[in-house]
Amino acid sequence: MSDCLFCKIIAGEIPGKTVFENDKVYAFRDINPQAPVHVLIVPRKHMDNILECDAETAAALTDAVQRIAESEGVDKTGFRVVSNCGKHGAQSVNHLHIHLMGGKQLPERMG
Ligand code: AMP
Repeated sequence: MSDCLFCKIIAGEIPGKTVFENDKVYAFRDINPQAPVHVLIVPRKHMDNILECDAETAAALTDAVQRIAESEGVDKTGFRVVSNCGKHGAQSVNHLHIHLMGGKQLPERMG
């Protein structure tokens, strides 16, 4: 998608701070981190949100979550994964992404 921010980051047209990448997913640091570790994990293939996610992509995203949790040193202390979807989910970038946040005690609940 030519006008998609995350497609542009994946393509290297807009800089991203790479954390992890393979043929299926790209992961980079959130520009406005909500925790000491705040990584966005996205499929290379454009899909708007989790409603369009196929099983192969879901498996690749889960594998990336596990690898990044370990490489960022939050696998033992714990972390949160969130994927906002649509208007009520407050999704602001319409390219499926998983937020991986950790490195501090997060609040028990949102809102
Ligand atoms: P969401 O609100 O769930 O759609 O999350 C979008 C996330 O993208 C937000 O946490 C933003 O801080 C983050 N973001 C927006 N632009 C960039 C960028 N250029 N590089 C890295 N993260 C970004």
